[in-house]
Amino acid sequence: MICCINPDCQKPENPDGQTYCISCGLQLVPLLRNRFRMIKLLGQGGFGRTYLAEDIDRLNQPCVVKQLAPDVQGTWAISKAVELFQ
Ligand SMILES: [Zn+2]
Repeated sequence: MICCINPDCQKPENPDGQTYCISCGLQLVPLLRNRFRMIKLLGQGGFGRTYLAEDIDRLNQPCVVKQLAPDVQGTWAISKAVELFQ
């Protein structure tokens, strides 16, 4: 399984070997930052999505990757979302 990291993707799970997301057409990233293999979407909140991943640098240990994609408008709201995320 390879997971699409487009925060607006409706169906982010794709079969292994897929180059582009079946649902949104975005090019899939096999290894995020050359380290994390994205497996599936765990959840979604106001600040973005949470994914299950494997940390290739740590013997494929399962981990969670949080994505910051705030569902807000305006500079102040975005900087506040970044502050809360951190
Ligand atoms: Zn997608």
